[in-house]
Amino acid sequence: MTDPSDTRDKAPRRFSPLWTYLTGVVVSGFAALLAAEFQLGLHELATLARTPLFWVLTALVVLGELRPIVVSTSRLASGTATSALFTFAVLLYHGLSVAVLIHTLALVVSGLFRRRSWHRTLFNVAQVTLASTASAVVLGAFGHHPHPDQPWVPEGGDIAVVALAAVAYFLMRGVLVCAAVALHERRSLLRVLRATIGHQSLVYTALLGLAPLVVVVMSRSPALVPLFVAPLAAMYFTASLSMRRDHQAMHDGLTSLPNRKLLILRTEEALAEARDDERVGLLLLDLDRFKEVNDTLGHPVGDRLLQIVAHRLTHSVRPGDVVARLGGDEFAVLLPTVRDAAAAREVAARLRVALTEPVRLEGMTFDVDASVGIALYPDHAPDFELLLQRSDVAMYFAKEGRTGVEVYIAEKDRNSPERLNLLGDLRRAIGGDDLQLHYQPKVELATGAVEGVEALLRWWHPDRGPVSPDDFIPLAEQSYLMRQITQHVIDAALEQAALWWHSGIEVPVSINVSARDLLDSALPDLLEAGLDRLRLPPGAIQLEVTERILMTDQAYTADSVHALVELGIPLALDDFGTGYSSLVRLQRLQVREVKIDGSFVQRLGKSVDDERIVRSIVDLVRSLGLRSVAEGVETEEVAQRLREMGCDAGQGWRFAEPMPAAEATVWLRERLNEASFGRCPSAEVTTL
Ligand code: C2E
Ligand code: MG
Ligand code: MG
Repeated sequence: MTDPSDTRDKAPRRFSPLWTYLTGVVVSGFAALLAAEFQLGLHELATLARTPLFWVLTALVVLGELRPIVVSTSRLASGTATSALFTFAVLLYHGLSVAVLIHTLALVVSGLFRRRSWHRTLFNVAQVTLASTASAVVLGAFGHHPHPDQPWVPEGGDIAVVALAAVAYFLMRGVLVCAAVALHERRSLLRVLRATIGHQSLVYTALLGLAPLVVVVMSRSPALVPLFVAPLAAMYFTASLSMRRDHQAMHDGLTSLPNRKLLILRTEEALAEARDDERVGLLLLDLDRFKEVNDTLGHPVGDRLLQIVAHRLTHSVRPGDVVARLGGDEFAVLLPTVRDAAAAREVAARLRVALTEPVRLEGMTFDVDASVGIALYPDHAPDFELLLQRSDVAMYFAKEGRTGVEVYIAEKDRNSPERLNLLGDLRRAIGGDDLQLHYQPKVELATGAVEGVEALLRWWHPDRGPVSPDDFIPLAEQSYLMRQITQHVIDAALEQAALWWHSGIEVPVSINVSARDLLDSALPDLLEAGLDRLRLPPGAIQLEVTERILMTDQAYTADSVHALVELGIPLALDDFGTGYSSLVRLQRLQVREVKIDGSFVQRLGKSVDDERIVRSIVDLVRSLGLRSVAEGVETEEVAQRLREMGCDAGQGWRFAEPMPAAEATVWLRERLNEASFGRCPSAEVTTL
C-alpha cells in the first residue's frame, strides 16, 4: 500500500510524533514476526527451501514489490505491490510463518534494490507482518491454522472466511500506512483514509480475490503458478500507462513539478480541509534576474537553471507542501497548513536563502534571487483564484520595493473595491450568456477577398450594460481571471470555427491572447486538444498577441511559443506601432502577420507623421517577409491609401463591424458565394 515517506526519504526527527509512531509499529511488527517464525521449525524451513515452489513464490513477491501498481495521482497512494496476492495466497496455504518470511525477504531485497532508507524498509516489514497476523487471527477464529505440514486449500464454502481475512489484511495495512502519512503530512487520519482507501480497495479486491485461485493452483500444479504473472503484468502496464498520462497532464515537462492544474486541485483540497485555527498559505515566487541568464546564456542554460531552482525549492519545504511551476520563471508554493503570516514569511525567507546559494552553470557562477508574495486563506482571500491574485499583488510589491518577501495588505492593493467588484462580476459572467464573441472580418485589400475573422469579446453587464473590452481586459490581465477568460474565448471561438469549417466556410478565426497566456505552457495543449476534438486543421485559427510581448524577452524562449509554431498555429502581432519595439526583435519572434494599430491608420490622410509611420511599418514588415494588416480602416479613402502603400490586408468598419456569430455567418456566406460566382468583391470595394 502507500508508503509514509514518499515525499521524503529522510528519517523522521527523534521523538517526533511520527518517529514515536513508526518505532511503535516497528517494535510490535518485529515482535509479531519473531512470534510467527518461532512456530516454524528449522526442519520444516529446510524442507520448504528445497521445493521450487518456495523460490518461485519468493521471486514473484520480490517482483511484485519492485513493480507496484499505481492507480492514482494522489501523492498519498504511491502504489500497491502485487506481492500482496502471493503472500496472501501463501498465508492461506502454508500459514502465517511462511507468508511473513517470504514477504520480509522480498521487502529487504526490494529495499536494497530501490535504495530505500532502512526506516522505510523496517516499517514496511512491520506493517505487512501485522496485517498478515490480523488475517491469520481471523482464519484461526474460524478454526483454520494452515502450516507447511498441513496446507489449507479453501473450498467454495470458505469464501466468507477468506473474504474476512482479506478485509482484516487490507484494513490493517490501510490504517497503519495512512496513520504514518497523516503524521508525516500533518493531516487528519480520516482525511488521509478518505483520500486513499477508494483507489486502494479496488486494487486490493482484485489482488486478494485472486489469492484462493493461486492456492488451488499451488496445491494441484505448482508449476502453473507463474502464469498468474500474466494478468498482473496486464494490470501493471494498463495502470502505468494511464498514470503516465495523468502525470503528464498534471506536471510541468521541464521541471516535473506539479503544474497549475495540480496546484488548483491541491489548494482546493487544502481549503476544504483547513481548520479554524490554521491558515492555508499561497506563495508566489518570481525569479529576479532570470531574463538576463536567458538572454546572455541562452535557452538551454535557462532551462537548466529552472530545473535547479525547482530542485532547491522542493527540498526547502516540508512534506505535504506543494511546489508548482506556473510557467516561465514563476513558481508557487502551497502551504496546506501554516500558523500565521509570520510562519509563512519564514518559509518564504527559507526558500530565498536556498535560491541565493550561487549556481554554477557552463563554468560560470551566478546568483539567483527571487521575490515572493504571500496570501493567506482565509485572511486575504476565500478561494484559489483570489489567493493567487493576491499573492501576485504582494509579489509585485516585493519586487517593486526590493524587499524580497511581502505579505498581501489590502490597503496597498490598487485594485479598488469597484475594480474588484467588476472582476467578481466578470468571474460570474464567464461561461454564461453575458460574455459572447463577436466576429470582425479581415479582407485582402487588393482583391477584397475574406482572409479571416477576428473574435472579439463582448460583455453585457446586467447593470452597466455593454462594457468595452478595453475596460475589462486590462483589468482581467492583472488577475488570474485572464486565463479563464482566454480558455472560454478559445472554446467558443473553436466551436464557431468548427461550425464554419464543417459547413464549407473555411476562414481562419483569430483569437486574442494576452502576453501571459502566450507564455503559459498549457496553451498549446489546450489548443491542440480543441483542434483535435473538433477535427480542425491548425490553420483554422490564428493567435493575436499585442506588441507588448516583444518587450519581455521570455517570448523568444518560451516553450509555449515554440510549441505553437510546431503545431502550425500562426501568430500575429497586434496593435503594432504603439510599443516602440525594434523590428529586430520582431524577426526573432516567429510571427506571420503584423497588425498596424488603428490609431495610426485612422489618421492616414490627416497626419503626415502617421502616414510616414504606417508606410515605414508596411515596408519593413514586407522586407521581413511578413504580412501587414491595417486595423481600424474606417473609410474607403484610408483603404485606398493602404492599397497604394502595399499593405496586404485591412480590418475595420469600412468592410464590416464586429458582428454576432449568426450575422457573421450570413455575411461570410454572401461574400464567399459572390467570390465563387466570379463577382470579385474587390471590384465593388475599389469602385465604392
Ligand atoms: P484589437 O485586438 O486590436 O481589436 C481591434 C479593436 O478595434 C476592436 O475593439 C474592434 O472593435 C475595434 N475596431 C474594429 N474596426 C474598427 C474601426 O474601423 N474603427 C475603430 N475605431 N475601431 C475598430 P474592441 O472589440 O473594443 O477590443 C479592444 C481590444 O480588446 C482588442 O483590440 C483586444 O486587444 C482586446 N480584446 C478583445 N477581445 C479579446 C479577447 O477575447 N481576449 C483578449 N485577450 N483580448 C481581447
Ligand atoms: Mg486583435
Ligand atoms: Mg489591435
